[in-house]
Amino acid sequence: MIQSNANTTQNITVLGATGSIGLSTLDVVSRHPEKYRVFALSCHSRVKELVELAKIHQPKHLVTSSKADYPKLKAYSEETGLACQVHLGNDALCMIAADEEVQVVMAAIVGAAGLLPTHAAVQAGKRVLLANKESLVMSGNLFMDAVQQSGAVLLPVDSEHNAIFQCLPQQGFCQKSIRKILLTGSGGPFLQRDLATFADITPEQACKHPNWSMGQKISVDSATMMNKGLEFIEACYLFGVAGDDIEVVIHPQSIVHSMVQYADGSVLAQMGQPDMRTPIAHTLAWPERIESGVASLDFSQLTDLQFLKPDFARFPCLQLAIDCAYKGQAATTALNAANEVAVAAFLARKIRYTDIFKLCLATVEQTPDNKLSSLADILECDKHSRLFATNYMETLL
Ligand code: NAD
Ligand code: MG
Repeated sequence: MIQSNANTTQNITVLGATGSIGLSTLDVVSRHPEKYRVFALSCHSRVKELVELAKIHQPKHLVTSSKADYPKLKAYSEETGLACQVHLGNDALCMIAADEEVQVVMAAIVGAAGLLPTHAAVQAGKRVLLANKESLVMSGNLFMDAVQQSGAVLLPVDSEHNAIFQCLPQQGFCQKSIRKILLTGSGGPFLQRDLATFADITPEQACKHPNWSMGQKISVDSATMMNKGLEFIEACYLFGVAGDDIEVVIHPQSIVHSMVQYADGSVLAQMGQPDMRTPIAHTLAWPERIESGVASLDFSQLTDLQFLKPDFARFPCLQLAIDCAYKGQAATTALNAANEVAVAAFLARKIRYTDIFKLCLATVEQTPDNKLSSLADILECDKHSRLFATNYMETLL
């Protein structure tokens, strides 16, 4: 049974503080100064913004993972007269995630870069608020084993998984009483676009999500629905379920954030505004509830909630990710790596939107079905897959 932490102040580290999730986290935290004290903040290259955040939240530590930007971070924080220590690199990220003064870690670095610091927080037995879905996609079994061993409290920030967590019985998924987890996704900006024009999609169009405001990488993932595929894999590990226990449902309005369908025909849904401060506040306070700053739903305005089957011809990345969930860890790690390479290349206008799928498919197809039993194995598979995807890209240019 989790003890209530209502009357104690918790120290929080925010990994990826300058990002969309990081900023929303600091927004919620700043509404509850009696509950949360910011211990450490990290960023990659936006060091000036990090210093601005440090002025407000007064953390003990600032970390950048960018060697090129470290001198700037040091200079800015000295100019500002900040009393915090400034660090560089992965070891420092792991240090602020595992420090004994920290109780809560928001894991909101984007991509595989979040793997080691998120693992460090888990291994140190923290309350881990997990936004960095890529770390579960890459290392799900190891990750969940480490949670078991360390006694970490793992709470899903991803809105769908947070919704499922809220709709599941307290003891978790149960095959006898549950028919399906219904994982909803909006379908992104290209749900209705003419398929014949997909090769012309620009980064600006792909990043313009109809309902959510997010970082660039997850915005492109939402457009291709690779995001829903990564979430399918994430759900398998988080809730200990098989692929057959999950069904993807398109829900363009993003009001229902996911559902659980029970054996007796009941369906429990979690609903709310498409604002990440709701799941963030839920994971911060669970099992209690705190104010998040998110407006209430006005049901008189919710006249048209739609639910559709996904069209896999439109969203081949979704099908590929689901196939990888059945294949195992090597396939999901390779998929994640190839997708990161592909999305970065698409954003840099080096490849077409439609090449993202081609690159991911080719990378997964050449990945041997090896068992990955350590973080070193996973990092090796990640490295090899990135190399393959980068070389394969040349054939597309
Ligand atoms: P973002 O791009 O807005 O922010 C990413 C953060 O990670 C920034 O602080 C950046 O400085 C840091 N970062 C980037 N590269 C790094 C590197 N190489 N090493 C260390 N730090 C690095 O991303 P976001 O939208 O906030 O997403 C963060 C994570 O949360 C992703 O894994 C995403 O899938 C997940 N997530 C986001 C949302 C959302 O609404 N934004 C919803 C669900 C899940
Ligand atoms: Mg999500």
